[in-house]
Amino acid sequence: MKQNIHPSVHQTGIVCVSCGTNWPISSTRKNLRVDVCSKCHPFYTGEQRIVDTAGQVDRFMRRLRTSQEHQAAADRRREDRRTPKKPSLVKEIYGEDT
Ligand SMILES: [Zn+2]
Repeated sequence: MKQNIHPSVHQTGIVCVSCGTNWPISSTRKNLRVDVCSKCHPFYTGEQRIVDTAGQVDRFMRRLRTSQEHQAAADRRREDRRTPKKPSLVKEIYGEDT
């Protein structure tokens, strides 16, 4: 082996952020982290669960709530436009029985 060209290898571990499992490995890098591993990934555990480490579900729910509020406001405006603001002039002059 040629001297001074190879990186140093450490005994370290890959830490899963979701479940905290430490997978011991040898690596040239330290403090390796993964979002999901085979102990907690839904494919391996068989349970229906959303692994949301980046807050994507929260972001989606926030956008959905905002969208529903806008939709409800648009529906209210549309309903306000349909109802006449003042009675028709014909009905005002001749009464309701025309
Ligand atoms: Zn895990």
